[in-house]
Amino acid sequence: MALRRALIFVGPPGAGKGTQSKLAAKECGLPHLSTGDMLRDAIARGTPLGKKVRPLLGRGELVPDDLVMSMVEERLSQPDCANGFIFDGFPRTLPQAEQLDGLLEAKGLGKPLVIDFCVSPDKLLRRLSGRLTCSVGGEIYNEFDAPPKVPGICDRDGGKLVQRPDDRPEVVKERLVAYEKQTKPLTDYYRRRGVLQVVDAGKSVDEVSRALNAILKRAEGPNGRL
Ligand SMILES: [Zn+2]
Repeated sequence: MALRRALIFVGPPGAGKGTQSKLAAKECGLPHLSTGDMLRDAIARGTPLGKKVRPLLGRGELVPDDLVMSMVEERLSQPDCANGFIFDGFPRTLPQAEQLDGLLEAKGLGKPLVIDFCVSPDKLLRRLSGRLTCSVGGEIYNEFDAPPKVPGICDRDGGKLVQRPDDRPEVVKERLVAYEKQTKPLTDYYRRRGVLQVVDAGKSVDEVSRALNAILKRAEGPNGRL
C-alpha cells in the first residue's frame, strides 16, 4: 500500500491499537511510532528526559506537552518518516494535535487520517487488569485472553512477565479517567476536520485488522477518500 499519509491511531489503553499499528505499519510500509516506546526507551537509557518522566508514568500521570512535542519533532525529522508514519497513542491533547498539524503541513504530508479504536469500558478493564509485559522483548500477554504457555514466562524469549506499574488497577482507573477527559476534545477536533474514522476494537485482532485495512485501502493515493 502506498499511503503517503500520517496515520494517527487513538483509543483508550487496552484498545489494541499497539497491535493494530504494528500490523498496519507492515501492510503500508510506514514506520510505527509510539511516544510510550520513546519514553520507556528514554527511561531505560537514563536520559535527562527519562529522569523527568519516570515518576510521572509511575503515578499514571500524563507527560507535559512540551516534553512530548520536542521528542516527536526530533523523531519526525528522521528520513524514514518522509513518506508518512503511524502514530500510536499520539497526539493525546488538543494542543498536541494542533502542533502536529503544523508539522505535517511543513513536511507536505497534508491532513492526517485518524482512526478511533472504540471499546466498551467492561472489556477494557478485563483486558487491562490481566495484561502482562515481557521484561526482555516487550511482548504483551493477557492472563485471561492470551496467556503464555508457562505462567509468568514469555513464550518467545523466556523473559519474565511483569505487570507494568501503569497497568495496576488503581493506576488503570486514573489512566482511563485522564484519557476520557483529555481525548474527547481531540476526537471532536478531528471529526470536525473530517479525518476521523471509527473502528469497533472490541472484536478479534483479525476482524479489527480487516476493518482497518478496508479504511486504509479507500484512503490510498492522491484522490483517496475517507
Ligand atoms: Zn519476551
